[in-house]
Formats: sequence, structure tokens, C-alpha cells
Amino acid sequence: MTLNKQTGTDKKIAALIVAGGSGARFGSDMPKQYLPLLGKSVLQWSTDAFSGLADEIVAVVNPDYPRPQGARCGGAGENIKYVAGGATRQQSVRNGLAALRATKPDIVLIHDAARPLLTQDLIKTLVAAAAQSGAATPALPVTDTVKRNGKTESRENLFTVQTPQAFDFTLIDGLHEKYKDRSFTDDAALCEADGQEVALVAGQPDNIKITHPQDLARAESLLSARNGDVRTGQGYDVHRLVPAQGKKLMLCGVAIPHDFTLEGHSDADAGLHALTDALLAAIGAGDIGQHFSPSDPRWKDADSTVFLKHAAELVTTQGGLIAHVDVTIVCEAPKIAPHRAVLQRRVANILNLPPSRVSIKATTTEGLGFTGRREGIAAQAIATVRLPFVFSTAQNNEELKWAS
Ligand code: MG
Repeated sequence: MTLNKQTGTDKKIAALIVAGGSGARFGSDMPKQYLPLLGKSVLQWSTDAFSGLADEIVAVVNPDYPRPQGARCGGAGENIKYVAGGATRQQSVRNGLAALRATKPDIVLIHDAARPLLTQDLIKTLVAAAAQSGAATPALPVTDTVKRNGKTESRENLFTVQTPQAFDFTLIDGLHEKYKDRSFTDDAALCEADGQEVALVAGQPDNIKITHPQDLARAESLLSARNGDVRTGQGYDVHRLVPAQGKKLMLCGVAIPHDFTLEGHSDADAGLHALTDALLAAIGAGDIGQHFSPSDPRWKDADSTVFLKHAAELVTTQGGLIAHVDVTIVCEAPKIAPHRAVLQRRVANILNLPPSRVSIKATTTEGLGFTGRREGIAAQAIATVRLPFVFSTAQNNEELKWAS
């Protein structure tokens, strides 16, 4: 699947997510980057932030700990390449850079998975700065008084730095090779060691690092507040029933045994089409026909899960979460009840949601109308999505323009 590039640059962008830690200091039996945070893992928040911005994502993970499966609220999981980490952070970054050499991106953003609150605005700013100067890091001026051994230090020119840090790929890959025998705590430090200037861009106070258990609670409250724009979208679809003649009847991504099938350009899965429209509606992204034209030969007999995954990815690109989806299938036959749990698990799986966030129901129309006469099957869907109130500066300006 190709990602929609929204960085406003023609440069090839890669994200390298460092998630190789063991969580020994955090005091949990699982690495902290795998801990759940509002429906997905800390690592997934970090990777999802690059959705639509990075051409490729490499996550360097600890091979001793299995990655958590499922429990995502939408996302671009299939675009991530997982690489085994090393003994140190620096070695893990080197492994990640090595994995990117084949595709050789122009710019790589190196990010610690333990900072799940990074925003797309920050990523775009860093990409622009690194394209200019070769290296850029987010930095925050120190505002607290700093004391060393009981003595007050000057705060002048004192900054704390965050990740992601953005670099010209060839530059940082070369420096990691050159300085592999010296130890550094971040990647910008390798540039400093080599006399290469690092541009400072404004860091974000909310871009906190999950270090202690209380940081996880703080991240949860910051993210809840950020994704407070609750939207609902509705979708409706109908397809005609025709004799099966060997073609499977697809509903909600599952082949259901029946003497009839649904007719259409794609696999005619009315359930997934209604749900795709509901998700697109919730984020104001038009309808399924705009994204996947019924006259386009590419979508002839297409698997409709492709349409639904695309809609889910658009939600992630907007920094959003799918809170809940609900599908109602309207037909006299086949009977849906025996397949309900399978359909629910299938939709949950396509959307990377826990099944508790997916509802599948069915009804008849008591023999009335086209569904009652068994001429076709109708499906209705409602999706509830949580978006950031103000996600990008551009979107904010657009809304202010409307408000004035
Ligand atoms: Mg349809």
C-alpha cells in the first residue's frame, strides 16, 4: 500500500522508531513501548504519527519480547518493517539504518517509541529543517532553575532535546558507522562530534517521554484531551441478489454459503461498503465512489477489505481513532445470526480494533420491499471516530477562516 505523502516535499522520507528497550527501569513485565495507551500500544501511537508522512517505517524492536497483537484503534500496521534491536540504543539505530540502506531515503527521522505524543506538525517542521540543513532536532528552552551540587547554573542557551530528530540519511548513516566505537545518548550528538551543525526547531512540551508509570497516566490524559472531537458518520449500501453460479456471497469480509450472490463491480460486499462510507463520512472525506470509482478496472471483483482499510488509514492520518462501528444487514436470507460472531471478528481484524468496539446486527423487513422480496441485500453502518480538535496549523487556520 502506498502512503499519501503530505510533507510538501518530493524527498523520500523514512521513519526509524527505536523500540528495542526491555522496560527494566519501568518496573513492568513488558517493555514500556508495548504497554496499552487508549486502545493501542505506546509503540503504535509513535508509528501511527508518521502515517501519511513517511514513505517507509522501520521499527527496531527487542526480539526477546513478542509484539502485542491486535488492540489497535485503526492504523497503518502493514507498512511497518520490524528489525531486531541491539545491546544499546546506538546499536539499535545502526540496525535500523542498515535496514533502510536498500531503499536509501533522502531524510530519516529517528524517534524513540517512548514518546507517543509527537504530532504531525512537529514531523513536518523537522523534515523542512533537515532538508535545509542536513540535521534538525526539537528542543525546549529550560525554564526551571537548574542547580548543580547546590549551586545555581545559568539557564542561558540551555535546552532539553526531544525526538524525532531528522537527518540527511547518508550523513547520519555515515556518522553512525564512523563513531560506532564511541557512545552517544542521542543521534544529534554524532553530528556535534563531527562538527556538523544541528538546526533546533521548537519542541513540544506535550511530547513527553514515558519514563515512569505516572508518565503513562499523563500521556493518557493528554491524548484524551487531544482526541476530543467526537464524530459520527453514516453509510448505506444496496446490492442486487443474483443466482450464485459459483460466486461467493461476501458480507463483512466473510464468504457466507448461499444459493445467491451479490452483483457488483467489486466483490459487492454491501456490509463493508456501508461501513467504508460511514468512516469516510465521519472524517468528511467524501464517499467510497470518489476513492474507488466503480468504472475503474482496478476494482473489478476487488476485495472490499481494501476499501475499508483505506478509510481506516485516512482516520489515522488525521491523527484520529475509531471508537466504535456498528453494521446492520437487512435481508430475509441468508440467516446472519449463525455467522454474527465471525463477521464481528473479521471486521475487528480488518480495522485492527478489539471486537468489543465492533457491532454486527441483522434484521428482516417482514417480507416487505425489495429486501423482503429477496431482490437484494441492504446494509447500514454508523462509525464513531475521535479526532484531534486542532490537529494541524493549516486545519486550524481553515476553521478560523470559516468562523470569521
Ligand atoms: Mg456497494
